[in-house]
Amino acid sequence: MIPGPIEFEPSVLRAMGEATASHVAPNFIETFGNCLDLIKTTWKAPNGQPFVIAGSGTLAMDMAISNLIEKDENALVISTGYFGERFKDILTTYGANVTILTAPIGDIVSLEAIENELKSKKYKLVTITHVDTSTGVLVDPKPITSLAKKHDVLSILDGVCSVAGEEIQQENWGIDVVFTGSQKAIGVPPGLALLVASEKAIETWKNRKTPVQSYYSDWKNWLPVMEAYQARKPSYFGTPSVNLIRALEVSLELINKQGITNRIALHKKFAKAFQKAILSIGLKTVPISIGISANTLTAIYYPEKIDGNEFRKKVGEQGVIIAGGLHTDIKAEYFRVGHMGSVNASDIIATLSAIEIGLAKTGHQFTLGTSLSTFQKELY
Ligand code: PMP
Repeated sequence: MIPGPIEFEPSVLRAMGEATASHVAPNFIETFGNCLDLIKTTWKAPNGQPFVIAGSGTLAMDMAISNLIEKDENALVISTGYFGERFKDILTTYGANVTILTAPIGDIVSLEAIENELKSKKYKLVTITHVDTSTGVLVDPKPITSLAKKHDVLSILDGVCSVAGEEIQQENWGIDVVFTGSQKAIGVPPGLALLVASEKAIETWKNRKTPVQSYYSDWKNWLPVMEAYQARKPSYFGTPSVNLIRALEVSLELINKQGITNRIALHKKFAKAFQKAILSIGLKTVPISIGISANTLTAIYYPEKIDGNEFRKKVGEQGVIIAGGLHTDIKAEYFRVGHMGSVNASDIIATLSAIEIGLAKTGHQFTLGTSLSTFQKELY
């Protein structure tokens, strides 16, 4: 129950074990093309340009930034935790002038602050972390991207902890880049960076004044490859992760069969019931309200006077694996529970039970069973 890598559907894992096809074999060309088509559906970006590259989510961040920013251009980072800082680091690497608006831990940055900043100078792009996995804070991208549009600024959404678990309408909301990593709600073992660029993003890249400063990430190398597979033709720049891409096809087909809207509604239902269950036993979430808590994970403070390591060990003894803290300022004060992908109600009940036993054994005072009955009542 960690926020990635998550547990994967058996059919996805079985697909990984199929014979490795040649990357130019007809069956693989169809698989890759199908993945690219299904990504556009999942992202709700019918005119977007999908990219699937071997690498982790950080490669997708690197690809978005390195292709769109040029040296000495201004970039605005809206940060709700650890992964906002990573955007700043990548932008700095490519020579951008970075302004970072950091929310207090567990909160979001106000629209007013964002608008004031966008008015203050000419920005090239703004980055948003949809769900920061270090805090579990969910940011609504819609009003930020419409501000960006108003000021003619590109918008980049880190959807590593949100794509296929939180609502995203890339095209309707006017987001220029949305990306994720395979190991989260998209439901494939780690190793693929998935990204969709808008027509405007591709246009901006084509009109660059200076060359892209990354060799591996440069769209110059990958755009012809993606276009070829979309047209069901072979192509090559770097050998694709054949087995992972076949697993991605299986997962995207499952998601498509379930329907992305249904899938997100189910994530929301489980997340809200879980969060209410956590509050019912006197715990506090890192996000300051359920309204800005993610569907995909929940970050929870340890009760005062409880030894976090001991607590997590006791939870582990119940057969449930949860994650420790990640945000550097509060790392030792909280834990994280992922509830995305194939997670079902029974998994969450088992998790709440393990959390209660862990709390009871480390001295937290509450009535055993409270979170379980809260969860049941919420779902009933
Ligand atoms: N952004 C967010 C929001 C993430 O949660 C993560 C991974 N936890 C990343 C970026 C980086 O992804 P990866 O670890 O796959 O490089």
